[in-house]
Amino acid sequence: MTASYSDTQLLINGEWVGAASGKTIDVVNPATGKVIGKVAHAGTQDLDRALAAAQKGFEIWRDTPAHERQAIMRRAAALVRERRDHIASLLTQEQGKPLTESRMEVAAASDILEWFADEGRRVYGRIIPSRNLDAQQIALKEPVGPVAAFTPWNFPVNQIVRKLGAALTAGCSFLVKAPEETPASPAALLQAFLDAGIPPGVIGLVYGDPAEISSYLIPHPVIRKITFTGSTAVGKQLAALAGKHMKRVTMELGGHAPVIVADDADVALAVKATGGAKFRNAGQVCISPTRFLVHNSVREEFTEALVRHAQGLKLGDGLQDGTTLGPLANDRRVSAIKKFIDDAVQKGAKVATGGSALEQPGNFFSPTVLADVPQEAQIFNEEPFGPVAAIRGFDDLEDAIAESNRLPYGLAGYAYTRSIKNAHLLARRIEVGMLWVNQPAAPTPELPFGGVKDSGYGSEGGPEAVEAYLNTKAVSIMAV
Ligand code: NAD
Repeated sequence: MTASYSDTQLLINGEWVGAASGKTIDVVNPATGKVIGKVAHAGTQDLDRALAAAQKGFEIWRDTPAHERQAIMRRAAALVRERRDHIASLLTQEQGKPLTESRMEVAAASDILEWFADEGRRVYGRIIPSRNLDAQQIALKEPVGPVAAFTPWNFPVNQIVRKLGAALTAGCSFLVKAPEETPASPAALLQAFLDAGIPPGVIGLVYGDPAEISSYLIPHPVIRKITFTGSTAVGKQLAALAGKHMKRVTMELGGHAPVIVADDADVALAVKATGGAKFRNAGQVCISPTRFLVHNSVREEFTEALVRHAQGLKLGDGLQDGTTLGPLANDRRVSAIKKFIDDAVQKGAKVATGGSALEQPGNFFSPTVLADVPQEAQIFNEEPFGPVAAIRGFDDLEDAIAESNRLPYGLAGYAYTRSIKNAHLLARRIEVGMLWVNQPAAPTPELPFGGVKDSGYGSEGGPEAVEAYLNTKAVSIMAV
C-alpha cells in the first residue's frame, strides 16, 4: 500500500521539531513533478541546538558499553526490517526508483546496520610488550567524537546507513544533513533508532542549505569527524575545509566505472550483470558501470544484447507494478543527460537505442545505449549519473587497462573474462577501490567500500569503516 507522504521535521535532542525560523523547502515527486510535502529548513539557531545535543549525546554514548550499543542498533535494524514496505513507499515517492529497488535498499539497510552493530563488539586495542616490566603499555581505541555527515539523494536511506552504522558502533554521536530532495525516508530510518531506545542527542537530522550547513558544521569545535558522499567537486571543497580545521574525513565521491569485456568473456553473463547494474536506480549510482570497453571480436554481439536488455525495461512511475526503470531523481539530471548524448552524437557516437527524455510530466528518460563513443566525448570523461551505457571497442587488453586508468576517478571497475591470467592482471592493474570480476557489484557490509584518486578516500565497509571513527591512544601504566 502507498504510504501517505507527510512533511519532515528536524531531529534535535531526540525530538522532531520545525525550524526556528519556520522556513521549509518543497519536496517534489519526480514521477509527477508535483509537490508532495515540505521539509524544515534549519538555520544557525537550529544547528547550535543540534550541536549541543550531539555533544551531550556523545558523552552518553561513549560511556555506553559496546554490547548495549549493539542491542539498540540491532533493535533499530529489526524495526527498519519490519517497516520496510512503509519506508520503501516514502523513498519511491520522493526519489523515483521502482518500489522493488526501494525495498531492496531498505532490506540492505537492516543487513548493514546489523553487521556494524556486531562489529562494535570486536573493537580491540592491544597490549604492547614493555621494555620495563613494571609498566604496562596499551593502545586504546576510542570514538573520535561527534560526527557531521552529508549524504545525497540517490540512496536516501543507504547513504546514511553505512556512515551511521560505523559511527554508532564506534561510540560516536552522529548529526546528519540528509538530502532535502528526499527527506522522509531518512527521517523514517532515524525514527526506528528513537523507537529502539537510542538516548537523546546520539543521532540528529537536519536539512537546509547544504553549503550553509557544511560551512557551519565542519569548522565547529564540537564536530570531530566529517563524512561526505556526493560529487568529487563538492567533496574536494569539504575536504579542504576539514583539512583547514584538522578534522578527520571519509570521502565517498564520484566514479566512472570501466567495464572490460575481454575476447574470452561470457558475453551473456556480461550483458545480464552490467545491464542490470547500468539501469538500476536509472544509473544514478556512484559505482554504476559507465565506460563499456568491449573487445572488438564480441562488440557487436554485446551491443545488440545490451540494446535488447534496455528495450525490455519498463519505464514508469516507481509505484506502479511492473516498473523496472523509474524517472531521474531531479530535473538537473534530465538536462545533464541530454547534454551528454548531444555531445557524444556530435562527436561521432551512434544512438543504438533510447536517447531522449519523454514528453510528459516527470523526469523520465529512455534507457540509452551509445555505440562507437569517441574517447573525447564528454560522457567518456565526466560521470554521467544517468541511464546511458557508452560503448567503445578495443583490440588489446593493455589498451583497455590504459583507458580504465586514464581518468582521475577510481571508484568501481568491472571485468568479464574466462581467463584466470587476465583476471589476476586486471586485479593488479586497474586503479579502483573495488573490482568485480564476472559478477555484478555485491557490496556487502563486510567488504571495504570506497575509492582511490579523485573518488575519495576512506572506506565505508569492513573493519576499515569502523577504524575511521576511532582514535588510538597510547597509555603506559607504571606500577609504583
Ligand atoms: P551536487 O554536486 O551539488 O550535490 C551532490 C550532493 O552533495 C547533494 O546531496 C548535495 O546536497 C550535496 N552538496 C552540494 N553542495 C554541498 C555543500 N557545499 N556542502 C554539503 N553538501 C553539499 O549536485 P547534484 O545535482 O545533487 O548531483 C550531481 C552530481 O553529484 C552527480 O552527477 C554525481 O556525480 C554526484 N553525486 C554522487 C553521488 C554518489 O553516490 N557518489 C550521489 C549524488 C550525486
